[in-house]
Amino acid sequence: MTYPGGKLNEEKVFKDPVHRYIHVRDTIIWELIGTAEFQRLRRIRQLGTSYLTFHGAEHSRFNHSLGVYEIVRRIIDDVFRDRPQWNEDERLLCLCAALLHDLGHGPFSHSFEKVFHLDHEAFTQAIILGDTEVNRVLRKVKHDFPKKVAEVIAKTYENKLVVSLISSQIDADRMDYLQRDAYYTGVSYGHFDMERILRVMRPREDQAVIKYSGMHAVEDYIMSRYQMYWQVYFHPVTRSAEVILTKILHRAKELHQKYYEFKYQPVHFYSIFEDEISLEEYLKLDESIVMFYFQAWQEEDDAILADLCRRFMNRNLFKYIEFNPNSQMKMWMELNTLFKKAGINPDYYLVVDSSSDLPYDFYRPGEEEERLPIHLLMPNDEVRELSRQSEIVEAISGKKRTDHKLYFPQDLIEQLSSKRKVKEQILNLLKGD
Ligand code: CA
Repeated sequence: MTYPGGKLNEEKVFKDPVHRYIHVRDTIIWELIGTAEFQRLRRIRQLGTSYLTFHGAEHSRFNHSLGVYEIVRRIIDDVFRDRPQWNEDERLLCLCAALLHDLGHGPFSHSFEKVFHLDHEAFTQAIILGDTEVNRVLRKVKHDFPKKVAEVIAKTYENKLVVSLISSQIDADRMDYLQRDAYYTGVSYGHFDMERILRVMRPREDQAVIKYSGMHAVEDYIMSRYQMYWQVYFHPVTRSAEVILTKILHRAKELHQKYYEFKYQPVHFYSIFEDEISLEEYLKLDESIVMFYFQAWQEEDDAILADLCRRFMNRNLFKYIEFNPNSQMKMWMELNTLFKKAGINPDYYLVVDSSSDLPYDFYRPGEEEERLPIHLLMPNDEVRELSRQSEIVEAISGKKRTDHKLYFPQDLIEQLSSKRKVKEQILNLLKGD
């Protein structure tokens, strides 16, 4: 497949702190980067509320998308090219799918999806296939090219080798975000020898495999992912900010449904509150818009909305304790009753949040983690699933870890001066007495 514009007269380079440079030689990639839908990703952070925990984590989905593109480009152009198992006709398709794989993400995706039942993957498909600038660029290759790009991202494309570069347990997406998120948060986890992994990747009919000699680099990559999940992605302070964000959205929707008179009418949210958002309206949402409302709503008459927005803007977050939903439901119910007595609405101020991750899994059809397992290419040309060869990986394979926390506003409880008895009862329960 070829693009009418072919190659650029001169290569374009983007300076990147993770990969040093991002190289663009294909006109189609340059034009896709220039579309309104792709530029929108500059205004959506890669790590949502993590910047309230790690102040450096302000990087955007734009940065990450360019990084994923660059890794796939290097795999194809530096490692796969001229190998008999690789079909050079798939090159442009891989590059476009890598660049566009996160296109449908919205502002604070995680929380918005939870509250409004949105699905960023469905929006990615809709942007690629709909009446958009991205679609017009892709169609210049061939009328059915947008559909192929959408299929690669949806993992339904017939050539599974192509799919595996973007969605497997060792894909370009994960390799970029681990290093990028480690760089911007400043943590010492998340680093692994990607250069080594890229050098030992080989194309096979149904997926990219890793030469056995690169196994230790892969083990390091899996451990770094495991540590990033628990040290960064599921950080309890980040989740506290996310709990507050989620509750702001719930409150604003509830007030809208009750015909509350907002001082700052949430015009950008009307259709989302009424569950009928169109692609056009979705594309207008970004984190600048959301922050505008949160900033303005600090002055609303509704005490809960104003308080939650002040907390989010000024990082006055909820405190938390460990919570076991199997043994502590009684305590949670008692707290619920006491919060009501104290005049603190438990629907907004007493929140259980759960996180869980599966560090690596061998293939079990039909289960939650559908990403392909990692396969090693043994010296005798046999292909073996990684956890059958690596004891380190076997030890953490298929083991899902879940963590529950109970969030509450310590400061509001401390301020209950006229309700001393209720206050003491609440504080004792939270202390575990
Ligand atoms: Ca991604």
